[in-house]
Amino acid sequence: MTRIVAISNRTAGEAASRAGGLAVAVWEALKASGGSWIGWSGDTVEEQPRGATTFNDEGVEFVLTDLTQEEFNGYYITYANRNIWPIFHYRVDLAHFDSEAFDAYAGVNQRIARLARPRIKDGDVVWVHDYHFLLLGDCLRREGWRGPIGFFLHIPFPAPEIFRALPEHAQIARAMCEYDVIGFQTERDTSNFIRYLTEDHGAAELGEGRVKVLNRTLTIKTYPIGIDAEDFAELAVSEKAQDAATRIGRFLGGRSFAIGVDRIDYSKGLPERFEAVGKLFDAHPDVRGALSVTQIAPPSRSKVEEYQELRLQLDQLAGRINGDYGDLDWIPLRYLARSFDRAELAGLFRIAQVGLVTPLRDGMNLVAKEFVMAQDEADPGVLILSEFAGSAERLRGAIVVNPHNAAAVAEAMHYALTMPLDQRVERWRELRETIVAEDIDWWRGNFLNDLTRAPEAA
Ligand code: ADP
Repeated sequence: MTRIVAISNRTAGEAASRAGGLAVAVWEALKASGGSWIGWSGDTVEEQPRGATTFNDEGVEFVLTDLTQEEFNGYYITYANRNIWPIFHYRVDLAHFDSEAFDAYAGVNQRIARLARPRIKDGDVVWVHDYHFLLLGDCLRREGWRGPIGFFLHIPFPAPEIFRALPEHAQIARAMCEYDVIGFQTERDTSNFIRYLTEDHGAAELGEGRVKVLNRTLTIKTYPIGIDAEDFAELAVSEKAQDAATRIGRFLGGRSFAIGVDRIDYSKGLPERFEAVGKLFDAHPDVRGALSVTQIAPPSRSKVEEYQELRLQLDQLAGRINGDYGDLDWIPLRYLARSFDRAELAGLFRIAQVGLVTPLRDGMNLVAKEFVMAQDEADPGVLILSEFAGSAERLRGAIVVNPHNAAAVAEAMHYALTMPLDQRVERWRELRETIVAEDIDWWRGNFLNDLTRAPEAA
């Protein structure tokens, strides 16, 4: 079996952090094939570390490096999260262009490549993840590695017109062409990137995902990421899940229940969602007192200014809606700014009549898939899904909405709440079938299959 060297900003070095879909997928692949997982330790230090912390777990070697405070600010906070993240989520207005931060970003990519190089052996494949490491393939070539390197982008890839707003777009794209396989979440992302390469770098498509560009031939394809579908369904009936459902049941007192679960991030469309909830209560007196909406939203990247502002905005909006519509014994919109255990989330999903997944832009959105897998076949809830979530490309059984249109989202919620059982079951079966067929193992297998065949294809 081909050994894998995985590189991502955060790794699953601690067993507790292996709960998420991606961490599980990479971990399972590494355990099966053997190999190394290289990334940031999560700690910052004053002086640049000379080496790295290494340890072995079930035959997988972890190689983790600290970042200096300067690297953390330039590479992580500024370039990754205030340049690439907003641009790739179509938010040119929120980008803080900063060429010094790009230098820091390139520097960390090179340092990680140098750390990785001695660990890569002939016959290995290298699998790089996400927007923190767009340049890593090129950096590894500079370190002399000629073998297969794959890259998977977990976030969207924007339309070329938006990507070109990033001052370093050409440099980034040229570096990306050093990968052998580039994977995107949706057909839209893949075609955006290919169109950009065609218009700006003279790329030619050869068929079956093969693209010739800048004197190289690479595979550029869509691999929609999945979840550990069956495991999540089991989690939703676990004791912990049932306890969470019982606890929220006491609060609901027999009312209908709609749930949203997202990190606090401007891409998630939370203020727009809150507006839609207000519109629902405004336009439909029948749901007043009969529905409680709970939004679970743990703060993320609290060091980034835009995120602090968003938090304030959400506090205000929730306060206003509850002030306008709430009653002595009813809170219309509850907003819990903290994390919950996966099993608890699964339990809450299971008893919800409506799942609200309305990002303004999202690479895939795994919550949509988790919500579906947690449902009770005899009485499934309805998924309301933004057309701008990557998952909407495949999840046809959802009610698909434009998250900017608050009135339409409010109507979709009302429609979901009044949908007859047979229609809910039909939609749910269709959703479940896709999510089970295209689960995390399917995703990993497809990507690694193309990556291990990359040398033949070339
Ligand atoms: P993103 O990667 O942008 O945060 P996704 O929806 O693709 O969005 O993935 C989020 C993951 O984090 C899901 O597996 C979800 O269950 C989990 N998650 C989100 N919010 C919470 C929370 N409050 N507590 C625990 N897990 C959460």
